[in-house]
Amino acid sequence: MASQPPQILSVRKKGRPRKVKFDQPGDEEACAHCHELSCATTLKGVPGTLMLTCDKCKTNHHPSCMEFEDPVLISKCFTYPWLCSNCKTCTKCNTADNDDKLLFCDVCDRGLHTYCNDPPLQRLPEGAWLCKLCAECQSCKTTKPGPTEWRHVVIPQKGDVGQFLATFCPSCYNDFQQDRFCPICLKVYSRDADDLAMVCCDSCDRWIHVGCDDELTEKEYQRLVEQEEPQFTCILCDPIRVTRALESTGAKEVEYKGQILITPSLK
Ligand SMILES: [Zn+2]
Ligand SMILES: [Zn+2]
Ligand SMILES: [Zn+2]
Ligand SMILES: [Zn+2]
Ligand SMILES: [Zn+2]
Ligand SMILES: [Zn+2]
Ligand SMILES: [Zn+2]
Repeated sequence: MASQPPQILSVRKKGRPRKVKFDQPGDEEACAHCHELSCATTLKGVPGTLMLTCDKCKTNHHPSCMEFEDPVLISKCFTYPWLCSNCKTCTKCNTADNDDKLLFCDVCDRGLHTYCNDPPLQRLPEGAWLCKLCAECQSCKTTKPGPTEWRHVVIPQKGDVGQFLATFCPSCYNDFQQDRFCPICLKVYSRDADDLAMVCCDSCDRWIHVGCDDELTEKEYQRLVEQEEPQFTCILCDPIRVTRALESTGAKEVEYKGQILITPSLK
């Protein structure tokens, strides 16, 4: 559940991990570490057959065979073209040079050199390290909280590792948990701070920012405001529009508390 997760459970070793030896002929579908299809030492809730496939060399990897012990980390690796430790490059300079200076994000496993960080890091950091993509609040965009203060929301999926949704700072996470968020951009709103215009969807009863739904323009908003009984159905409640949006963005639909959310968010 979204209410349990956060915290980074494990801090992995810094610097490039041991390279994988691809010596087995046999089954190319099998895990490059244990050479099995199904892994016995998997995390609770993670199917033994779940493997990450390297976007470059196409080898398969059981998360637990790489000592990936955090469901947040595993689910986030499925949200982008993940690279195995043999193929890992720095997201800034795109090289694999100086692998002893290559950091791995504890939330998404992307690589970055200590010297490619902005500002450059003098040494490998102790404790958890998060890349810039994982250390920004989805809602208020702050980059302030320390590595363990971030709240990463993963929507549980039956028989699977879960679908990564978003990262929040503790304060925005609190609003998110209390369902005070626009389901399209996943930005939260506070009861007292009412600076952005929003409209409530008649179908799902959720509040949508003007501009977040492409049919909810400033002009449409003015029209609704002038009506006695304004009617509005959001994009998430319109199967035709939501299918079109998913096809054009490659985003996925997930169910959260019985309603639809899109990840990554459409805004
Ligand atoms: Zn394995
Ligand atoms: Zn690879
Ligand atoms: Zn680099
Ligand atoms: Zn990251
Ligand atoms: Zn925030
Ligand atoms: Zn919004
Ligand atoms: Zn709706």
